Amino acid sequence: MGHSTNLFKKAQTIIPGGVNSPVRAFKGVGGTPFFIKSGNGPYLIDLDNKQYIDYVCSWGPLILGHAHPTVIAALNKTIPQGLGYGAPTEIEVEMAELITQLIPSIKKVRMVNSGTEATQSAIRLARGFTGRNKILKFQGCYHGHSDSLLVKSGSGLLTFSIPDSLGVPAEFTQHTLVAPFNDIQAVQRIFAQFGEEIAAIIVEPIAGNMNCIPPLADFLPNLRSICDQYKSLLIFDEVITGFRVSLHGAQSLYNVIPDLTCLGKIIGGGLPVGAFGGRQDIMEYLAPLGPVYQAGTLSGNPIALTAGLATLQVLQQSPQVYQDLAKATQYFLEELKVVANQYSIPLHTQSVGSMFGIFFTQKNSIHNYDQVACCNLENFKQFFHGLLNQGIYIAPSAFEVGFISTAHSQSVLDQTLEAAKRIFFQMNGYDTSATSALLEVDTLSAE
Ligand SMILES: *Cc1c(COP(=O)(O)O)cnc(C)c1O
Repeated sequence: MGHSTNLFKKAQTIIPGGVNSPVRAFKGVGGTPFFIKSGNGPYLIDLDNKQYIDYVCSWGPLILGHAHPTVIAALNKTIPQGLGYGAPTEIEVEMAELITQLIPSIKKVRMVNSGTEATQSAIRLARGFTGRNKILKFQGCYHGHSDSLLVKSGSGLLTFSIPDSLGVPAEFTQHTLVAPFNDIQAVQRIFAQFGEEIAAIIVEPIAGNMNCIPPLADFLPNLRSICDQYKSLLIFDEVITGFRVSLHGAQSLYNVIPDLTCLGKIIGGGLPVGAFGGRQDIMEYLAPLGPVYQAGTLSGNPIALTAGLATLQVLQQSPQVYQDLAKATQYFLEELKVVANQYSIPLHTQSVGSMFGIFFTQKNSIHNYDQVACCNLENFKQFFHGLLNQGIYIAPSAFEVGFISTAHSQSVLDQTLEAAKRIFFQMNGYDTSATSALLEVDTLSAE
């Protein structure tokens, strides 16, 4: 038995489910998670010394791949000077300067320790600033695990939202309204009824927690104008998209300016960091200037910010990096579709820059959570395990987005395509009956 299997057994006796974040347990695909020994460029090495090409990239932060030399060198320089002081440091000002320079809608920024903290604090700030309680979020968008945001789906659009987790009193989510992603009419209906009570809309400008769903053409501009009309705030949760799809955020790609922006993942370069920022008048409502309390013992930690700042500086110094990443991602997805086609596996892909989604479906566009949920899960599981067996790691859930880093070379992508070809061949040869039965279901539930 492998070291990972043994360790997972032991872990389960002393850590709930054996993991410190649920999706790591492979519940969505079955099987046993592997334990990581190290990472290097596009590769992960597990405890049994098996190497994997990694398309998870720590769930987004590692846009430069694992253990990028510049990031590691910066850390090696900073660490000997102490690990944190709970007092102001120069690097916090440098980080704030860089963020406000790269994302102009952010006039002031506060550092925190995770994406969850960023969104939770931004919501509190929006409520404090507007003096309103309700917020609107979208089905399938994830904004961390704080109480009022842990809601995906009300049983009807305008009914009170049901918490996704035990331990969240319904009273805590009664102010959370939910609409389907990309459905502006649903948003208009909700605002017609509750508009004057809504503090903010919070949205992932490109949904990255229900696979990969870009916004439809008018969706974000319409959210902006609805917020303006009702004097509600627009919060972009760019925890994934910030510095992933562009050096200036998804907001620059779609040319829609939010009032507040939440950041995380890439700005920590692999260490725990989050941030939220935006309009000056709003940010000045924060303590110690204003009446909205927010704090953190480890916030602005110099080691974490060193990794983040080094990552951002590498990105800033090589502006062609985003085009290269997008090109590599498009190549990979187009070839993947060609291979799937050869073996008659219905497959659709979506991407923005280097964040991508693979959908086992006959549809050629996916706009919302319900459509993702209709995709063929069995095909996804076979694909996941087929790749894993051949040393390729994609997220262990059909609802997660994939990432390509600057360390993913053409040969790494081609190796993945070869592996996919072998899997599609098998899926086609041995499992046609099961596949076509599932496809019928998928087609029936289309739109
Ligand atoms: C990951 C993520 C979060 C939560 O960040 P954590 O660091 O895991 O707390 C929030 N919003 C989005 C869009 C995310 O992808």
